[in-house]
Amino acid sequence: MQFENKLSFAKKMDANDELRNYRNEFHFPQINGKDVIYFTGNSLGLQPKRTQKYVDEIMNDWSALAVEGHFHAEKPWWDYHERLAAPLARVVGAEPKEVSAMNTLSVNLHLLMVSFYRPTSKRYKIICEEKAFPSDQYMLLSQVRFHGLDPSNAIVELKKRPGEHFWHTDDILDKIEEVGDELALVLIGGVNYYNGQVFDMKRITKAGKKVGAMVGWDLAHAVGNIELKLHDWKVDFAAWCSYKYMNSGPGNASGVFIHEAHLEKDDIPRFEGWWGTKKETRFLMKPEFEPMPTADAWQISNPPVLSLAPYLASLQMFEEVGMDALIRKRDTIVAYLEYILLEVDKEVEGSFEVITPKDRGCQLSVLLHGQGRTLFDYLMKQGVITDWREPNTIRLAPAPFYCSYEDMYNFGQILKRAY
Ligand SMILES: *Cc1c(COP(=O)(O)O)cnc(C)c1O
Repeated sequence: MQFENKLSFAKKMDANDELRNYRNEFHFPQINGKDVIYFTGNSLGLQPKRTQKYVDEIMNDWSALAVEGHFHAEKPWWDYHERLAAPLARVVGAEPKEVSAMNTLSVNLHLLMVSFYRPTSKRYKIICEEKAFPSDQYMLLSQVRFHGLDPSNAIVELKKRPGEHFWHTDDILDKIEEVGDELALVLIGGVNYYNGQVFDMKRITKAGKKVGAMVGWDLAHAVGNIELKLHDWKVDFAAWCSYKYMNSGPGNASGVFIHEAHLEKDDIPRFEGWWGTKKETRFLMKPEFEPMPTADAWQISNPPVLSLAPYLASLQMFEEVGMDALIRKRDTIVAYLEYILLEVDKEVEGSFEVITPKDRGCQLSVLLHGQGRTLFDYLMKQGVITDWREPNTIRLAPAPFYCSYEDMYNFGQILKRAY
């Protein structure tokens, strides 16, 4: 497509955008009396207007029914989480029985490692990407120490090549081969939070399985952003948060995926609680744990319905729109943003550099040469919300659900004035 750096062109793109009506479905913060240009849907998605209704429903049921709400609420609370499974499965490419919504992301990855990181004296190493998201680093370090192992030996970090900003799939596959039968687990962020790179999850998973390791993915930046086929790729387990591209609200519930191959196994270690036992007999309060035949076996507590309500509202929107349409718009709007950045760079040469590789989703990470935090502050004052990472990177994620082409054009104009 031939892009143009013109307001009329951007407006035409918006008029032809199949998702144009969804912009109205979200609350936008206001700066200088106008909707902000929001580039941080990769950090905290905007609030869908319909979310309030879902939360109110629970508040109203609670006030009117109290404990009876567990079974007699509009959407009964005791199995509220089950409503999320089918739509979530469609977003991540899974069977409904392979997914569950529960807890929060880092907690879930720890719980999943209880089941899927079981080091032996021979097979105990974990492969992860260098400079992983801090929580992931802390998780792996503490897991390894918990098993009495030395992190400097047990954790193998995937390095970028000198002077480069991204990982080569071949380097990753080579490292998996090299660690071979010492490899217990591959756990990588499916989309890197810093450079926006989308990893080749299919090939990496296959390579990990081939040497006999478990393969898990942290999908915080992948879910609701890129196409996922967790079941077909034979991923062992995955978890994600719902407050980034899934717009379910700050700190909100996580989702997990556990491959069908691991369900209904008697010998799988797991931290268990009453919501993981068979629902048919749960309230008989029997001493034996009989696992649910689904990912719900990993549920520990009764569902936090006040946080699942916004998640359900969000999933309803994903059901209406579908990942295919979101991905179509994502690719076009990100390409337009990149074009706009290059147009500005032509006028102010050498001012910045896009470090996100071509294997990308919604995010462009931009390395600023010369300008630093002052640019970030200037943009904020002009109503452009970006994300700043030390020492000199801004991340721009035009979420396809609610960002417009006009936003991209206006951003270019504002950026140009900064120089
Ligand atoms: C956002 C993010 C997290 C956040 O974890 P919480 O447990 O939800 O606080 C973890 N890992 C990655 C890769 C992330 O991008």
